[in-house]
Amino acid sequence: MSFTHLGLSEPLLKAIKAQGYDTPTPIQEKAIPVVIEGRDVLAAAQTGTGKTAGFTLPLLERLSQKQPHMHAKQIRALVLTPTRELAAQVAQSIENYGKYTPYRSTVIFGGVGINPQLSAIRKGIDIVIATPGRLLDIAGQKGIDFSKLECLILDEADRMLDMGFIHDIKKLMKLMPPKKQTLLFSATFSPEIKTLASSLLHNPVLVEVARENETANQISQVVHYVDKARKRELLSQLIKTKGWKQVLVFTRTKHGANKLTQQLEEYGITAAAIHGNKSQGARTKALASFKANEIRVLVATDIAARGIDIDQLPHVVNYELPNVPEDYVHRIGRTGRAGQSGEAISLVCVDEHKLLFDIEKFIKAEIPKVEIEAFRPDPNIKAEPIENGRGQNRGGKPNKARNNAPHAQSHNNRKPATNKNKS
Ligand code: AMP
Repeated sequence: MSFTHLGLSEPLLKAIKAQGYDTPTPIQEKAIPVVIEGRDVLAAAQTGTGKTAGFTLPLLERLSQKQPHMHAKQIRALVLTPTRELAAQVAQSIENYGKYTPYRSTVIFGGVGINPQLSAIRKGIDIVIATPGRLLDIAGQKGIDFSKLECLILDEADRMLDMGFIHDIKKLMKLMPPKKQTLLFSATFSPEIKTLASSLLHNPVLVEVARENETANQISQVVHYVDKARKRELLSQLIKTKGWKQVLVFTRTKHGANKLTQQLEEYGITAAAIHGNKSQGARTKALASFKANEIRVLVATDIAARGIDIDQLPHVVNYELPNVPEDYVHRIGRTGRAGQSGEAISLVCVDEHKLLFDIEKFIKAEIPKVEIEAFRPDPNIKAEPIENGRGQNRGGKPNKARNNAPHAQSHNNRKPATNKNKS
């Protein structure tokens, strides 16, 4: 299957070629034709599946089918995302895929000045990519007009609900015309997502990529048991001995991210932290230096890392396991993207055994445990309660549903044999 059979016109095919893509990913193959047809879509897709192009390309195609007369402030399409990073990334995709089309897009999120955003919309914009909070502020100032909206896309809708954006979304919805095309992308299908989908979508086409997807299978996962106090030493050793050049490391808290960054620097490993307390400028700069291989390690919290897209990111380290099993899947999805192979390493201390158990139950697979002789945990150290970093990132309410993770769609059904190798 090639892109030419999906109903995309020449300017888009040319842009796809410029991106270097030969074949559509499964989600693209399924979503692109139905979106072009004008249908509402409910898509189960994780990051790394190529979902962004899966909605961006047909959106651009749809826009080219009509040339309406628009007033300033009126927009034709809106993409809502949970985080600034994801918004910026989707905007970049639209720019890349739309570079041979005349459509103008702009990205809107909080944490930066509102005036340039207001004036961008006033100048006339076709597509807005936004986080819900700031967009609502702009709508409240009558800075944007949704009356001619043709297409609404909710990306990572599950995450938006987790972050407490449901009320903002509902308020925005009231400002939009009922007749429009709506696409909803979500990695998981909690009852809350189903309720949202049934209130927003009309007779949607359900697009699902095989659960046992290519991407997840490309990621090799491993657990190293280690005492908490020795994690940073083990991490530095792994980075140095294995010669990792680009590694994304997850911590549970912002404070933990800062501390680890500093410690890695002390070990002579270049690192930067990215989390919700950092200014947008600092986050963008850290990400750019990481992508340019100027720093070896990017230390991130879950929410900040959401939406980070780095081609061929080879290593992801869970310096601390996430409290929510789904976050494990999101974290390791940062590597092994679009068919590349990747490695996800978890450093697990005695306090985290229950978290590991929950993760394995959620992914329906046992993660191979590899013992590193010099870091074998001290059996006399007893488990202590875990410092909880959740809820500190955003004003959003923690969602009850996340604690019932196993009801959510499982991401793969693999059952690799347990592997208690020594190394
Ligand atoms: P996404 O799931 O949208 O975050 O995309 C994951 C990654 O896959 C991004 O780095 C895209 O640039 C890349 N990608 C998307 N579609 C394709 C394709 N058809 N062929 C190769 N890479 C792709």
